[in-house]
Amino acid sequence: MLTLALSKGRIFDDTLPLLERAGITVAEDPQSTRKLILGTNRADLRVVLVRASDVPTYVRYGGADLGVAGLDVLLEADAADGGDGLYRPVDLGIASCRLSVATPQGWDYAGAVRQGARIRVATKYVHLAREHFAAKGVHVDLVKLYGSMELAPLTGMADAIVDLVSSGGTLKANGLVEVERIMDISARLIVNQAAFKTQAAELKPLVAALRDAAQAASAAPAA
Ligand code: ATP
Ligand code: MG
Repeated sequence: MLTLALSKGRIFDDTLPLLERAGITVAEDPQSTRKLILGTNRADLRVVLVRASDVPTYVRYGGADLGVAGLDVLLEADAADGGDGLYRPVDLGIASCRLSVATPQGWDYAGAVRQGARIRVATKYVHLAREHFAAKGVHVDLVKLYGSMELAPLTGMADAIVDLVSSGGTLKANGLVEVERIMDISARLIVNQAAFKTQAAELKPLVAALRDAAQAASAAPAA
């Protein structure tokens, strides 16, 4: 039996078509069940639903054999625990967005950086933000938040945020502008390293099928 860890929402929704291309259908819709373990049309494969930021943990510690995690979540987890125990064989090209710095409209980010000012930055991604600003030689005080980062500059709690941006609509609705792109983000297939050896006969064909599905999807993007 193989266990695949997914998070509800974007990751689940974008992974479903790839699974379907690989001939796999999930038996239930996470929106209409409270179950955390979902069967599939394959007797040897099940899906577990976990928080997005818990996917690397489940795969690392063997609660799942493989999973789908955003590069943001993966790199942040690596910074916290060294990144051992996980293979990352496939960029699935789904749940795409970017990690960026945003400030209130009119706030002079370039000027603050140039003057060597100390900037207060609110983010969920403290490790990635720390690395980014350290590489630029910018002095920052980081404020860890778990959500609604956009609110921090609006309440005067921070000068800037580091957050994921896709359309930019949420920033715009809150009077913020993207002032610097840190990195492009997409979701990755991750595999427990030990399972990849001990369950190679089951895992390798599944990883290959998902790689093919991701390639086919990027060649012919879904409408
Ligand atoms: P939780 O809701 O459990 O706190 P989360 O907010 O990280 O976790 P989602 O919003 O479902 O969960 O995001 C999951 C992943 O989707 C992110 O880690 C990221 O890789 C990707 N993603 C793509 N676009 C966006 C976006 N605009 N905002 C947030 N995440 C995005
Ligand atoms: Mg979210």
